[in-house]
Amino acid sequence: MRDLINELYQEQTLSKANLINLLLHINDEEREYLYEKAYSVRYEHYKNSVYVRGLIEFSNYCKNDCTYCGISIHNKELTRYHMTPEEVIKTAEIGYSLGFRTFVMQGGEDTSFTDDKFAAIISSIKTQFPEAAVTLSIGERSKESYQKLYDAGADRFLIRHETINKKLYEKLHPKMSYENRIKSLFDLKDIGFQVGTGFMVGVPGQEIEDIANDLLFIKELNPHMIGIGPFIPHKNTPLRDESAGSAELTYTLIAILRLMLPTSLIPSTTSLATLKAENRYKGFRVGANVVMPNLTPYDYKKSYQLYDGKKITDTESYEALEQLKKECLDAGFYIDMARGDYKNWRRK
Ligand code: SAM
Repeated sequence: MRDLINELYQEQTLSKANLINLLLHINDEEREYLYEKAYSVRYEHYKNSVYVRGLIEFSNYCKNDCTYCGISIHNKELTRYHMTPEEVIKTAEIGYSLGFRTFVMQGGEDTSFTDDKFAAIISSIKTQFPEAAVTLSIGERSKESYQKLYDAGADRFLIRHETINKKLYEKLHPKMSYENRIKSLFDLKDIGFQVGTGFMVGVPGQEIEDIANDLLFIKELNPHMIGIGPFIPHKNTPLRDESAGSAELTYTLIAILRLMLPTSLIPSTTSLATLKAENRYKGFRVGANVVMPNLTPYDYKKSYQLYDGKKITDTESYEALEQLKKECLDAGFYIDMARGDYKNWRRK
């Protein structure tokens, strides 16, 4: 296994057969070796820094039917909300005053958010705070729509491919198009966004071979950001009785991806920290270098539950940010409040 890890470190890739072999047979000692290698690459490019992104969960309306997701159209128990443009902008203003220089607007696919509405919000934030970055996590739209949002000033876009196995994708998203999901990623890259993809670890039906294919797809796409987090069941979804994904496998995949794409921006995700709070810091040790505190106003964020157990605390305060900084320092990392673009990225 050590030879495979060394090969991955040197070549920044492995064959599918070797990835499967590694994922199936790695033992605890070899896993530690993998984590050390991933940490050394993280350190080479980012030292012990952690970039922060202020998350704004602007809407939990969604037209999609993702079987794992707590805000999918099927959840009739949920109180739906959307923030007004003024509320989104106000939230970014509060974040800015705390020192945040990246805002991530995330929501369900809410049809009331037209291109013009998004563009107005983005350009208002960018006019007030030209040095801040705006990231969108708003799902699938046409290439023309993505172009308008880029032209309005959006810098980055997160859209996980979820799984590169078409059959599994269609099982998890009965009414959605696998081809369109993948096309979105290539459209966004083509336009010039910094693009993030990723998948859930341990989503029901996922095999080790699927994960190997996901890793190779990510290597080929060569995204700027990669989000990997465990699947966690939600009580109002068809997958409510399934088990959560494993934190250890998530760390292993973060470490492998750090070696495959050394300069990528990889968050230590909220779902990883939901399994256990300390997991966030272990995520940094195995290669992650981004964290996304939640700036959403309290009354809204309690209705933005993608999975059970998400902690709803007041993270949009000075005290919460100081606490995060302190916990990072205790774990040997430091928060870098810069906007944290992908290295050498320039707007087209
Ligand atoms: N609607 C947008 C989209 O599709 O990209 C953004 C919001 S979506 C809720 C954000 C991500 O949450 C998804 O890409 C998915 O991987 C993750 N997610 C949803 N339900 C989850 C669950 N039960 N456990 C872990 N992650 C989940």
